[in-house]
Amino acid sequence: MKLAKIVVVGSINMDVVIRVPHIPIEGETIMARSVQYYGGGKGANQAIAMSRLGGDVHMIGRVGKDAHGQRLYDNLLENGTKTAGVEWDEDQPSGTAYIYVSDRGENNIVVFSGANSKVDVAQISRYEHLFDDAEYCLMQMEIPRETIEHTVQVCKQKGVKIILNPAPAQPLSEQILEGLYILIPNESELDLLCPGPGSLEEKSAKLYGSGVQNLIVTLGAKGSMLMNEAGVKYFPAVPVKPVDTTAAGDSFIGGLTIGLSNKMDLEAAIQYASLVAAITVSKMGAQASLPDLAAVEAYLAGK
Ligand code: ATP
Repeated sequence: MKLAKIVVVGSINMDVVIRVPHIPIEGETIMARSVQYYGGGKGANQAIAMSRLGGDVHMIGRVGKDAHGQRLYDNLLENGTKTAGVEWDEDQPSGTAYIYVSDRGENNIVVFSGANSKVDVAQISRYEHLFDDAEYCLMQMEIPRETIEHTVQVCKQKGVKIILNPAPAQPLSEQILEGLYILIPNESELDLLCPGPGSLEEKSAKLYGSGVQNLIVTLGAKGSMLMNEAGVKYFPAVPVKPVDTTAAGDSFIGGLTIGLSNKMDLEAAIQYASLVAAITVSKMGAQASLPDLAAVEAYLAGK
């Protein structure tokens, strides 16, 4: 069976994890215990989640012409993501997230979007051919909004179904929302998109009313909720002992899109996504914890 082609338009970051005795206060200089580098960025994480599950995944993104950029580019390739749409920026360094983690487990994160801020309309136009035979386009919000708006128009013209993860949450224009195949926020993103009082269902109904075909809200250990023309349906999380929930959302979205590209119906794809995300939360790390097909099969065989 030929897999449906998936285009990811999104961020590619180096996550720099800096372990410190405590989070420094204003004006304070402290020594780090260790510094570690990990591939990250929601775009790259979701692309890699899907590539490891056997997807035909094409990334459009941007890295700096620096050592981080080379590592991030190689990391995509090594995981099976197609990188023809990834460009090297002459001026901006690679996107970087500086993550301070204290001995008490508190964290502070500073993100520099760098080359991600230059994923522009012109770059999408240079790779428009990638959308010609694509079935799904997956986006998040770590690249400029006008690029997302333009990509939405390209996808509409070419009949590509759009899956949007509104993270980090920011107000979404009608132009983006109208006709989206799937909008998939987590609970706090839903709250930011629909501020004020109201239950999960009320806020979801408001967002669903803006013209998306399917709204899925991920609810952490409580699972997820689907709202569409058939009504509202809840999906439990797959019970596991959580070790590290980092990348749960990226892995759920990757599993969901792969399920759909394998011709599962939406409900079966949500169940597959829940399984993939549960395996991710049972392991340490972000990209390191994203399972491949063998890990999914091993998990099922162990059940
Ligand atoms: P993150 O920002 O950490 O990547 P998120 O907030 O975007 O995560 P969540 O809603 O926390 O995403 O989780 C996504 C999905 O992962 C959930 O819908 C659920 O299926 C699964 N999941 C999350 N936490 C657990 C858990 N403790 N046990 C089992 N499954 C979980």
